[in-house]
Formats: sequence, structure tokens, C-alpha cells
Amino acid sequence: MGFPLAMTKSVSIIGAGTIGGYGGYLLGRAGYSVSIYEDHKVIGEPCHCTGIITSSILKMVDLPTEIVLNKLSSVKVIGPNGKSCVLPTTDIVVDRVKLDEHFVGLAEKEGAKLYRSHKMVSCDLKEKKFVISHEGKEETHSFSTLVGADGPNSSLAKLLNPSLKRKHWIGPQAVISGTFDKSQYEVYLNNDFCKGFFAWVVPSSSTTAVVGLAVRDRASHHFKKFMEMRFGKAYKEKVIRYLGGLIPLYDSGINCYKNGVYLVGDAGGHVKATTGGGIIPGMKAARGLVASLKSGKDYDKTWRKQTGFNLFTHLKIRHMLDTFSDTDYNRLIEYMGGKRVQKVMKNSDREYPASFALRLFFAEPRLARFATRLL
Ligand SMILES: Cc1cc2nc3c(=O)[nH]c(=O)nc-3n(C[C@H](O)[C@H](O)[C@H](O)COP(=O)(O)OP(=O)(O)OC[C@H]3O[C@@H](n4cnc5c(N)ncnc54)[C@H](O)[C@@H]3O)c2cc1C
Repeated sequence: MGFPLAMTKSVSIIGAGTIGGYGGYLLGRAGYSVSIYEDHKVIGEPCHCTGIITSSILKMVDLPTEIVLNKLSSVKVIGPNGKSCVLPTTDIVVDRVKLDEHFVGLAEKEGAKLYRSHKMVSCDLKEKKFVISHEGKEETHSFSTLVGADGPNSSLAKLLNPSLKRKHWIGPQAVISGTFDKSQYEVYLNNDFCKGFFAWVVPSSSTTAVVGLAVRDRASHHFKKFMEMRFGKAYKEKVIRYLGGLIPLYDSGINCYKNGVYLVGDAGGHVKATTGGGIIPGMKAARGLVASLKSGKDYDKTWRKQTGFNLFTHLKIRHMLDTFSDTDYNRLIEYMGGKRVQKVMKNSDREYPASFALRLFFAEPRLARFATRLL
């Protein structure tokens, strides 16, 4: 239960990733005195994200044109038997490093102070103090409001939820050179190399793409298998650089508030369990944080109102997909190829998965055979 201090004016944020930066901007704009502490020297690096986002982000923020690398118009979904369907999309690909720089820059414009190479090494919830390490020296700070935007391995999330057993996917990726259809990304559903998730090829231009997958274990083994299947045995010759990181699985039981500490973004597990997309849910949670601080309303209730139901629905769909055999995936792709499904895809927003799934079931009743697994 969160009962934030309505009078709080000074806010410290741990982490200057997308959500720490965006949250810092919103808080600065709302009149708070914001300090952001970031472990790394360079904002956005090391980058671990593919940068694909539903175009609904453009309804939330204006993005400078140089941040948007690509606008996609279709996704090709490929099943274990090699058959595929092509679905319409309006997803965009962003330069993730530039996106983080942009949000942190906006926060600074709103008065936030950014401390690079400043790592939070401990936090005392009772004493309301945290320790920052910088160039071998440690400084202790008091807080009334501390925001944990410290990513998927958040130490503040562990502090607030000592008994929560957090699950993650491991997401190895590579930026690869080649010839790509710039308007289309590829998604592979296949229990052989990406059980419990999917693999992707997302073009950032007609000559480069970010390629990856997410799995629970043996990430290098599965990644190699996929890369050899998609790009041939000599795929390493095409790799420009490797990326990768952890994707937290949303846990609806998480506490994102305790004693003046608030969790947002990956730290709070605000990630869609169907796709691993955390940028939009994290931004919505950051909006919830500001609304809660301003109104004095319970933060855990506020962020759940903003994004909790959608995250829960994504989780239910993920649980359903986890039961899929290769035959189920092949069937799913066959059913998704129909014209009525295409129409739903074109006119729906995946950020609202319950209404999206419902519309799909109406458009293609054969999909209902999977619906019982949602229960
Ligand atoms: C392989 C992969 C692909 C992904 N692809 C997509 C995608 O295409 N679309 C999408 O929407 N999402 C994607 N995601 C998820 C997305 O990257 C995250 O949801 C998003 O980065 C969350 O932002 P954040 O600010 O909460 O955390 P992060 O971006 O992880 O930022 C956390 C920041 O906190 C800093 N930090 C951590 N600990 C400390 C500390 N103790 N002291 C100071 N600083 C600290 C870190 O250095 C970092 O800068 C992907 C994730 C992975 C792993």
C-alpha cells in the first residue's frame, strides 16, 4: 500500500534509462526538484533493446525525426513448418540510445540534475537514506521520495519485495548487415530455438537489422541455432555488434511502493509479457507516479489503474502461448492469415490486449480453440 507524501518536492531517481529520463522530465515539469543518478557515463549505453514500439507512443510524446529510424507496415510471422502469414502493422523502430538521450535531455531542460557515473550501492528503507558511489568515494543521501528506475535487475525492487522470486528472459541480440525489406519485420514462433517467446528480425534500414530472441536458458545455444537457420553458418561475418539483456516477466503481486520508494519501468516489472516491450508500459507507470505524487493517492493503485489490467492480460496471453506446441503455432499462423484478422490487426492497438484478443476471436472463430487455455 502506498501513501505518498503529497507535500514532497524533492525527488531522487536511480537510473537514467528511458523510464528514469521520462519520469524525470514529467516530475521536473510538475515542479519537483529532481536529481537523477546514473551508473554509466554515457546515457543509453550499453544498449540492450531492439527499439520496436507500437505507434501509440506518438500519441504520448513528440519524437524528433532523428529518433525514429524506421516506420514498419507489415510483420511476417513464420511458423515451425516454414509457412508464414503477413499482417499489417504501424509499429516504429527507434534509436534507443537517442530516445534515452532525448528523455534525459528533456528532464534536464525541466531542471533535473543528472549525475553520470554515480551508482547507488545501498539503500536503507527505515532510515530513508541511500549511498551513491562515485570515483571510489561514497556519499550518503537522505530522501523523502526515491524512484527506482534501475532496470530489470533493480536492487530497489528486491528491497521492496524480498520474497518475490523474479523471473527473467535472457535476450541475446546482434545488429547485422544485409539486405532487408525495410517495411517488414519478421517474427519466428518455434519451440526449437525460442520456446516461451519468439525470435525477431527488425530492420532499422534496408541494410541493417536487429536480430534476436528471448529464452529462459541456454541463450547462446538458441541464438546460434536461430542465426544459422536464418543467416547461414557464416552469420558471424555479418554481425556488426552484439547486444542483449534481461527482460523481466511481469508479476501482478509486486509492490511498487514502500516508505517513500517508488518503482517504475523494468524495476517495477512494467513490461508486456507477450512481447517483452517495456517502453510504453514503463512510460504509463511514470505518468502514474507523477499523478500519485501530485494527488497523494496510493501509487500501487494508480499505476495499476494506468497499466495493470493490460499487463495482466499480456501475462494471461503469455501463459496461454507457453502451452503452444509447434502444431499449435502452425495452426495459429494459418488462422491469422485470413482477411478478417488482417482487418482487426490494422485497426487495433496491441497496447490494449483484451479488446484486441476479443476482436481477433470474433474475426476468426477458430482461434477460440486456444481461448480455453486463457482460463
Ligand atoms: C533484448 C531486449 C530487447 C528489447 N526490445 C524492446 C523493444 O523492442 N521495445 C520495447 O518497448 N522494449 C524492449 N525491451 C525492453 C526495454 O528495453 C525495457 O523495458 C526498457 O529499457 C525499460 O527502461 P528502464 O528505464 O526501466 O530500464 P533500463 O533501460 O534498463 O534503465 C535502467 C538504468 O538504470 C541504471 N542503473 C541500474 N542500477 C543502477 C544503480 N544501482 N545506480 C545507478 N544507476 C543504475 C542503468 O545503468 C540504466 O541506465 C527489450 C529488452 C531487451 C533485454
